[in-house]
Amino acid sequence: MAKSKECTICKHYGKEVEQTEVMDHTSIYDNMGNAVPIVLCREHSVDLFKKGQKKFLMSHYQILVDLVDSNEKRFLEVLEQTVKKNVDALY
Ligand SMILES: [Zn+2]
Repeated sequence: MAKSKECTICKHYGKEVEQTEVMDHTSIYDNMGNAVPIVLCREHSVDLFKKGQKKFLMSHYQILVDLVDSNEKRFLEVLEQTVKKNVDALY
C-alpha cells in the first residue's frame, strides 16, 4: 500500500486530509532559487497559484508562530531572517 501524502500546510495546522483527495506535488523556492518540493491539497495548491509564493507563505505565517509557541512576532522575524542568512552554518 502506497504511503499517503499529506498537505504540507494542512499538516502543520494539524488538519486531517482525506486520503482520497488528489494531492498536488509542487515546489517552492528558497532564497538561492533552489526548489523545495512540497505536497499540497487542492485548496492550498490553488491558494499558492493565486497568491504567489511570497503572499502564500506570509498568509501562513501562523505556522511559524505556532511552531515555537510564541506571539513575539518581531523576535520571530529576526530569528527567521538570521536563520535564513546563515542556514549554511547549520550543516
Ligand atoms: Zn492543505
